[in-house]
Amino acid sequence: MNDDQSNAPGLSAAELQRYARQLGDGVLSREGQLRLKQSTALVTRVGGMGGPAALMLAMAGVGRVIIAHGGEMISADLNRQVLGSEAVVGQPRTAPFADYLRSMNRFVEVEAIDHEPDDEEADELARRVDIIVSCPPTFKERLRLNRCAVDAGIPLVDAAQWGMTGTLMVVQPAESACLECVYPETPPFEELFPVVGAISSMIGSMAALEAIKILSGTGKPLVGKMLTYDAFEGRMTTIHLERRAGCPVCS
Ligand SMILES: [Zn+2]
Repeated sequence: MNDDQSNAPGLSAAELQRYARQLGDGVLSREGQLRLKQSTALVTRVGGMGGPAALMLAMAGVGRVIIAHGGEMISADLNRQVLGSEAVVGQPRTAPFADYLRSMNRFVEVEAIDHEPDDEEADELARRVDIIVSCPPTFKERLRLNRCAVDAGIPLVDAAQWGMTGTLMVVQPAESACLECVYPETPPFEELFPVVGAISSMIGSMAALEAIKILSGTGKPLVGKMLTYDAFEGRMTTIHLERRAGCPVCS
């Protein structure tokens, strides 16, 4: 059987074979897999969390993955970066990262943006993607992506990390609290905060999983909730988030 012969509309036999382990009861339906293929996801940035998030989205078969991240990879990234190796240190990140993602799934298109999108570009991107997986370290960027997602009416998965703790939040515009509801005042930003790569990968993978669930229509996404895993204490908590009356972004 070749790639042209298909058992499901829009999915080739080779794709069905490739995704066989994620198709079935309790995972994705074929229709869900097709919806993934027809989806575009923006991941910004692609460091310790966004790297594994982009990788998991590409491996799962999201049809188009757009990655955005400025600057060159440095050796201090190597404790948590899964898309780049020692060989990439000193080089701009996104081109080799995009090549790696393409090498992992020939059925996925990868678009690389070699900088952090500003307000205007983020707005434009939000209008041509189906979901944003937000993984920047700064609240300024996270709140910008939140605003763009709410304005465009698309879901946003916000991932954050510090030390051995990760947090995850899913925003569904007009339905759930947004990031600005939770952080009405921008918290201070610590430039070189500590982080262990294993928590970055964990929370990045969980962010990808939420995006996969939403895009494919599988399971119960964490809409309107914040999940926190404090690995230092070995404690996972999930809290419900209320929309904030008068929120300048979502109300
Ligand atoms: Zn809000």
